[in-house]
Amino acid sequence: MLDRLRSAAQRCSLRIALVGGLPREILRCQSSQRARENLFDELRDIDVVVEGDAVAFARELYRNLPGNLVVNEDFHTATLTTDGVEIDLTSSRRESYAAPGQLPDVDTGGIRIEEDLLRRDFTINSIAIEINPDHGALLDPLGGEADLRGRVLRILHTASFHDDPTRLFRSLRYSIRLNATLEEITQQSFHRAIEESMLDTLSPERVRYELECIGREERWHEIWAVMDLSGILHSLHEALGGISAWWTLEQGSSLDIVMRNQQRVLQGTALEPWLVRLAWATLSMRDTYFEAAMQRIGIFPRHIRSMVSARHILISVPERLSSEMPPSRIVDLLEHFPREAVALAMLIHQPVDDRGVSTRRALLNYLEEYSQVHPDLSGHELIKLGIPAGPAIGECHRRLRDLRLDGHVTTEEDERIVVQRMVELGKPGTSPDEGSSD
Ligand code: ATP
Repeated sequence: MLDRLRSAAQRCSLRIALVGGLPREILRCQSSQRARENLFDELRDIDVVVEGDAVAFARELYRNLPGNLVVNEDFHTATLTTDGVEIDLTSSRRESYAAPGQLPDVDTGGIRIEEDLLRRDFTINSIAIEINPDHGALLDPLGGEADLRGRVLRILHTASFHDDPTRLFRSLRYSIRLNATLEEITQQSFHRAIEESMLDTLSPERVRYELECIGREERWHEIWAVMDLSGILHSLHEALGGISAWWTLEQGSSLDIVMRNQQRVLQGTALEPWLVRLAWATLSMRDTYFEAAMQRIGIFPRHIRSMVSARHILISVPERLSSEMPPSRIVDLLEHFPREAVALAMLIHQPVDDRGVSTRRALLNYLEEYSQVHPDLSGHELIKLGIPAGPAIGECHRRLRDLRLDGHVTTEEDERIVVQRMVELGKPGTSPDEGSSD
């Protein structure tokens, strides 16, 4: 891929360089902070800065590197997806912020790559490796490599967090991922930006994007804890402040184990792991403020509805729910909730005793088994057997399902016998046992 990038740059006579995550991770491999072997395993995107027209370069690259090309002429950017890897191509630019929290004004006219590096978030991300013409040259105008070695996270200027408060989230994400500490001025600016309510300038969508990135990190629970302790969560919404007092990092890790073991529960739902983690981390919040807080952080209404339902299940149902109960009773308690909410409740429920374990098992049994149980006989067949058309059909179906769930009928023939008895007794919708002492 690098060869293709290089030859396309040569054909266009353009200067291009790798930026962002890839040069940073290459340097981390060189200083033994991470293993070389897995460098490319986790690689999902490659950021390339082009000194000149990135869109024209993307089109040239595309001729020899087939994939899916999406260009954005207005932003002077393009994305070429090839072999599952996204190559993000950007014209080198200068950025200025008219107002905090807003997207920057961009100038792409004749900007050198070295200058582009000055608009970035931290020194460790202001490193580039040139691909053409000076193949392999390290561009590190701000000492990013030294900070990387020293595990120091440093902003480029004191207004950085004010210009773009999403960097507050990014700083915690990188500092925990890389075991880096915030350098002193960075730390002061970090706290000042929170105290001066700079997070208020961010739209819910931008907050959600950052929380999504955090929720995908391996050490997401640590980042959530630090977001809480540093006042970020409280600043986003008062009711989010203090939530980490209700859980431990070990419990967060247990949630990950449950998610790994129960992957199939998530399949077929719109729930991504980061949302499950969010629902778990915010479980202690009062219902009164929950929806407003979720709206502030940009969670989609359909996901808020699932979370609210899951919370409702965990508050209202566990007292009455145990895996020892007849399956028909478990179905009766849960079938009114959306399946996605039951799945979420099962995952975020933290059993503290045997009773809790039994509740979780009941939720899992419902999802995996009981909710799939249906009678063999169709409505049409019930009518043929003498059940009157109308609500009695639904009622009869439900009775047959319950009898199946509790193991009283197992075959279609059993169902026919039951229905015939119901009809004889003139009580469709009741089981033979209820209908007579026979
Ligand atoms: P990873 O994907 O592993 O989190 P990355 O460095 O590739 O790391 P991206 O979010 O893809 O992260 O960003 C690519 C590069 O763009 C960053 O390395 C950084 O130089 C720059 N960048 C991203 N977001 C910002 C921001 N809010 N402010 C300034 N520069 C940013």
